[in-house]
Amino acid sequence: MSFKLYLATKNPSKVIEIRQILRHFDCEIILPDVKQFPDETGKTFQENALTKALHVAKYYPGQFIAGEDSGLIIPAAGGLPGIYSSRFSGKNANDGKNIKKLLKYLENLNCKKPVAYFICVVALIEPSGKHRFFEGRLYGRITETPRGSSGFGYDPIFELPEYGKTVAELPEEEKNKISHRAKAFKDLAKYLEMAV
Ligand code: IMP
Repeated sequence: MSFKLYLATKNPSKVIEIRQILRHFDCEIILPDVKQFPDETGKTFQENALTKALHVAKYYPGQFIAGEDSGLIIPAAGGLPGIYSSRFSGKNANDGKNIKKLLKYLENLNCKKPVAYFICVVALIEPSGKHRFFEGRLYGRITETPRGSSGFGYDPIFELPEYGKTVAELPEEEKNKISHRAKAFKDLAKYLEMAV
């Protein structure tokens, strides 16, 4: 069955990935005309994902709306950077600064190549107004130096032992088959195929 999905994100890297992940589904992805999303003030990925989706639902009632929140978790570092992944290096954070700060932080902890996982939580608001969550994870290790240039965020320091490569060294199609985002959005799409 075909379905329309409003995507509550302003992150162009995520939009490209989600379009590729869902390309085999009969779905139309719509980017809502919303100027700004509320600040991420939630204490969990679920709260932040739901806040984004609810914001869009105010403008597009009666539609399927997906809000996404994702991040990197390093259990040996107390779960950091976690919900602070995109702003780990402060107010003017960017991917390069976040990676630099994280590598320094791990060095100070004397934490070499720690196990880590990416997590993606999607909050789906249904036309009835009810919501449900979908989640995907990707496990790996943090490298001591960045490698590779594809992807975004922490991809250059996230190594997949079974590939011997960082995510940024993988072709985009490969990342989009195995990623946390792929797992969450494919489950969401399978659910929507049945729900519409
Ligand atoms: P959000 O926009 O608050 O969900 O920010 C997610 C942040 O988590 C991004 O800015 C990245 O730093 C990190 N992140 C999430 N997914 C990925 C990924 O697929 N690769 C690398 N970093 C990611």
